[in-house]
Amino acid sequence: MPTFQSLGLKEQFLQAISDMGFETPSEVQEKTIPILIERETDMVSLAQTGTGKTAAFGFPMLQKINAESRTTQGLILSPTRELCMQITNELIAYGKYVKGLNIVAIYGGASISDQARKIKKGAQIIVATPGRMKDMIGRGMIDISKIEYCVLDEADEMLNMGFYEDITEILSHSPSDKSTWLFSATMPKEVATIARKFMHTPIEISVGTKNVGADSVSHEFYMVNARDRYAALKRLADANPDIFSVVFCRTKRDTQKVAEKLIEDGYNAAALHGDLSQNQRDLVMKSFRTRQIQMLVATDVAARGIDVDDITHVINYQLPDEIETYTHRSGRTGRAGKSGVSMVIISKSESRKIKAIEKIIQKQFTQKELPSGMEICE
Ligand code: ADP
Ligand code: MG
Repeated sequence: MPTFQSLGLKEQFLQAISDMGFETPSEVQEKTIPILIERETDMVSLAQTGTGKTAAFGFPMLQKINAESRTTQGLILSPTRELCMQITNELIAYGKYVKGLNIVAIYGGASISDQARKIKKGAQIIVATPGRMKDMIGRGMIDISKIEYCVLDEADEMLNMGFYEDITEILSHSPSDKSTWLFSATMPKEVATIARKFMHTPIEISVGTKNVGADSVSHEFYMVNARDRYAALKRLADANPDIFSVVFCRTKRDTQKVAEKLIEDGYNAAALHGDLSQNQRDLVMKSFRTRQIQMLVATDVAARGIDVDDITHVINYQLPDEIETYTHRSGRTGRAGKSGVSMVIISKSESRKIKAIEKIIQKQFTQKELPSGMEICE
């Protein structure tokens, strides 16, 4: 069994780890942390969602920066506002015993002058979405000319969301001799391209599909007529009264529609998608985290990387266009050793996709029948 003690972390971090209740490092942490601590190197690290990547880059960065200086030394780029906030909170917890540490989150949809003020006080680490970051650099509000470490987190997703040019622009303001650490769940061509473009002979690490703790997600599919999708969703919800789930739809429109119907039918549901204001998104996420909402109906982009504990079911109301996205979805459940179920509602015409997904996840699906009327209250 690997231990955190053997990774080269200073005592103050071991203490924070023990406060958080982490017992053993995950595979990506075990493989990444010692290298990043010991060496100044670029790195490409591939690991599925839920494998603990934030700590894999967070601890080395925290250990290497100088918290006595107010210079910005580390930059973490991440695709969404929710992820920025999540990473920031996580790093603050990891660095709770580091004196003088100041980590600032930068994202769109919030006051730019407030963020600029926080930066002015001197942030050793900035966690940012590419759009807002580029904007603030352009306005002279942020100086990254002295950063030593740059993380591209969820690189595949940042590129999916069209941030390539923003990232290029941002990095052109950073020193060329910094270390760049790229983290991604998947390695499509576009990620390989930015790795080539922004990195010098990176060390490459790739870990299996195991989540933190045991891989405890089971995969089920329910074959229905396309027009019965919504009825199937309701039955699944009725059969699992304690459900705490993310329901994935393919488009913003479907997301909104399904959420509205669920609410109309008396379920604790809400929609999360890119057409909501940031304020609305924050409210929805807060109600979900506090479990006032049992079913979060979401698009892939809106739900990306969100780390909410104890999600019992991931429901694929529709399968994603890119089947690789399925692993991001199912990774929302079964986290930190808990068990979870990923359900797919599928029409006959799509049944081939199940085989394709099985290849990717290297696990078998179970075909299930919808619970009968006896088990549910109509
Ligand atoms: P990823 O970025 O790979 O999707 P995260 O960094 O968000 O994963 O981590 C997923 C969850 O696992 C978080 O709640 C985190 O606090 C927790 N976690 C991370 N490392 C460990 C560990 N070694 N032991 C237990 N839980 C961990
Ligand atoms: Mg992550």
